[in-house]
Amino acid sequence: MAYQISDECIACGACAAECPVGAIAEGDGKYVIDADSCIECGACADTCPVGAPAQA
Ligand code: SF4
Ligand code: SF4
Repeated sequence: MAYQISDECIACGACAAECPVGAIAEGDGKYVIDADSCIECGACADTCPVGAPAQA
């Protein structure tokens, strides 16, 4: 399953810079992952300071 970003996201943008396939974009108040692009590498979860990305 693709990763998803929870409402804990503080919109710092760190995960978007680390995603190897560019699946993360700034959304409305938080960042969002395009499930069809995500290859489930976990880099976003490893990078996030608040633990917002998790596998759905
Ligand atoms: Fe990108 Fe990997 Fe996070 Fe999926 S798990 S959104 S591919 S960094
Ligand atoms: Fe949100 Fe975490 Fe990504 Fe920062 S690294 S934009 S807090 S999900």
